[in-house]
Amino acid sequence: MALIVQKFGGSSVADAGGIKRVAGIIARAYEAGNRIVVVLSAQGDTTDKLLEKAAEINPNPSKRELDMLLSTGEQVSVALCTMALDAMGVPAVSLTGWQICLRTNSHYSNARIKSLSTERILAELDKKRVVLVAGFQGINKFDDITTLGRGGSDTTAVAIAAELKADICRIYTDVDGIYTADPRIVPTAIKLKEITYDEMLELSSLGARVLHNRSVELAKRYHVNLEILSSFNREPGTKIREVVRVEEVKISGIAKDSNIARIALIGLKDIPGVAFRVFRTLARKNISVDIIIQSIGREDTKDISFTVAKSDMENARELLLAEKEAIGFERIDISDSVCKVSIVGAGMINSSGIASKMFEALYDANININMISTSEIKVSVLIDERDADNAMRAIHTKFFGV
Ligand code: ADP
Ligand code: ASP
Ligand code: MG
Repeated sequence: MALIVQKFGGSSVADAGGIKRVAGIIARAYEAGNRIVVVLSAQGDTTDKLLEKAAEINPNPSKRELDMLLSTGEQVSVALCTMALDAMGVPAVSLTGWQICLRTNSHYSNARIKSLSTERILAELDKKRVVLVAGFQGINKFDDITTLGRGGSDTTAVAIAAELKADICRIYTDVDGIYTADPRIVPTAIKLKEITYDEMLELSSLGARVLHNRSVELAKRYHVNLEILSSFNREPGTKIREVVRVEEVKISGIAKDSNIARIALIGLKDIPGVAFRVFRTLARKNISVDIIIQSIGREDTKDISFTVAKSDMENARELLLAEKEAIGFERIDISDSVCKVSIVGAGMINSSGIASKMFEALYDANININMISTSEIKVSVLIDERDADNAMRAIHTKFFGV
């Protein structure tokens, strides 16, 4: 008898048919004699629709109220799915984040989990019930509802699996595993049998939304056995492991992140302390900066370009303009029609020529690179957003031959 955590995403529970299909998968695992905890997302595009509803009422709603609103989507899913299991004769109970004491910090819309209690879950499992928990939601120290950031139900599932020391956490979605690139953009993408936690963490942090990046972070830290598979077919999925690949050095995947903007400060004085003043201004308001490039400008000046999340762009512009005199720059250039495309592979560290192969693929496709950043297991380029999908296909063909 195993303890299994199953998570189903929005597309898997989009309508009544989806809910019944998912209930079937849950029932099979339960009837095989396992103890089952299920985490569900909101149905289909419910979360987007709720955001639209809020925008119709108030263009700048309070983050607390927004979380109150968004958390309702997951609650609908768990109640409906529990009813479906009931109808099939499978004993089940649905619980909210509050009922499992899922405590988070107070960062509304992007809260981090601090703790959760397994007491209620274990009591229900002892009663031979399937336990369905609403994903994506928690409560802060004021007992107010928070949400974990878009895609956050994955993180709820992994956190519960870690706390329960579950045998496995299965993330069911609308693709049957992790591919070398988003198969919707690169139709020739290849399914991976397994991938390391580190590679998966990079891929999800670099824009592959198939897993919420904090879920991978948690899975790595608490050694959660994680598997990605489809709720629409029974193909074997992808396992996430601590494996070290010994085969030839290849990249494991390509990701793109369109949620990015580039800011360039032109005509800064070429003296000590300038970069410090620029990035201190942003850090004080918790604006994270990603790729940074400094270049020599004309006589005694320099330019600094960097990227931030699109949602931080306007805020960053205002902050920097307010400090224009103190920092000392001529002008600011901003573009949000950029995109970051990255290749990831644990083998890169021991292999030369990977970056140049990527750049060659872009050159062959006549795609201009604006910025470059590298680490031990990834290379990222900033390019025009219009070129992003072509770039992914060109890079994929270069590395995988398809
Ligand atoms: P869910 O609603 O189940 O949480 P998501 O939409 O969050 O599903 O994630 C699944 C989607 O992730 C897929 O439909 C696919 O388009 C996208 N995706 C991005 N990168 C990859 C990748 N490397 N492998 C598989 N899917 C990917
Ligand atoms: N419903 C939330 C979202 O759409 C959380 C999730 O699906 O994981 O982002
Ligand atoms: Mg998701």
